[in-house]
Amino acid sequence: MQKIGFIGLGIMGNSMCLNLLKAGFPVTAWNRTRVKMQSVIDAGAQAAASPQQVAENAEIIITMVSDSPDVQEVILGDAGVIKGVKSGSVVIDMSTISPAVTRDIAAELGKKGVAMLDAPVSGGDSGARNATLAIMVGGEAKVLERCMPVFMAMGKTVTHVGVNGMGQTVKLCNQILVSVTNMAVCEAILFARKSGVEPQVMIEAVKNGAAGSWQLSNLGPKMVAGDFNPGFMIDLQQKDLRLALETALVTCTPLPATDLVHQLFDDCQAHDEGRLGSQALFKALLRLAGE
Ligand code: NAP
Repeated sequence: MQKIGFIGLGIMGNSMCLNLLKAGFPVTAWNRTRVKMQSVIDAGAQAAASPQQVAENAEIIITMVSDSPDVQEVILGDAGVIKGVKSGSVVIDMSTISPAVTRDIAAELGKKGVAMLDAPVSGGDSGARNATLAIMVGGEAKVLERCMPVFMAMGKTVTHVGVNGMGQTVKLCNQILVSVTNMAVCEAILFARKSGVEPQVMIEAVKNGAAGSWQLSNLGPKMVAGDFNPGFMIDLQQKDLRLALETALVTCTPLPATDLVHQLFDDCQAHDEGRLGSQALFKALLRLAGE
């Protein structure tokens, strides 16, 4: 089995790394905050002292950190992957970051004979835990083929969507879809309530018809119940919408609905709600309604 390196053991990375160990892959792991490495060490991973050391001990190196500068740091920075990686290895970035930054990193790795795949995921923390993630992959088909057993240990669907950067682009499409749909759910619930219809009854009436969506079935009842605990945090959602809007500027693409949701999430963040779940978008709408 190919030797795996894993960098970034947060909510997502920890579960994904555990699933690789469960599938029998030898894993060398690193996390900036060392205490978060314990659960994967207990499950059989070797601990590394730096991303460089991870790369020295692996043929396929996975990164799962927060944002574009963080991926640049762990791959291209001092003691980064690029300092230890061997020619012929593959780097897979599974974080959600900028498509443009992804292409730059792939070019730098390419100079060392190292292939890169951008492979962001959808499915949330439960998808990471249950190895049911949807994985969208940018990069060369033959590199993806080599990495397929690794992906199948972490996810259920793996889709090759194009060259480097396109995996991230498709992930941003995913984020446009979920956030604009979330907004529609907020509006329908508020409209029902203001008109005297019990919102949960409205949800039950329409959820199996043409208006049905994951957001309506899962986030809608939470909005109605006032449960704003995070599944997917507003701060992370905002990062993804920022990436989509920045990319849209470069490609002269109008994204008016995405922009609106981004501004309403700004309002949530200004009210110290960034760590609430994305269904707390409803709170911004309630404020507009004077409630
Ligand atoms: P998280 O729990 O906040 O974990 C972030 C990880 O990145 C931590 O291990 C953190 O290390 C590490 N990190 C951040 N900046 C770093 C830096 N500059 N150098 C080294 N390590 C750094 O986040 P998450 O929920 O696992 O999300 C990870 C990625 O997956 C993000 O791009 C996110 O958008 C994406 N994603 C998340 C979900 C979700 O439902 N959570 C779903 C799909 C995709 P420390 O422990 O030291 O802070």
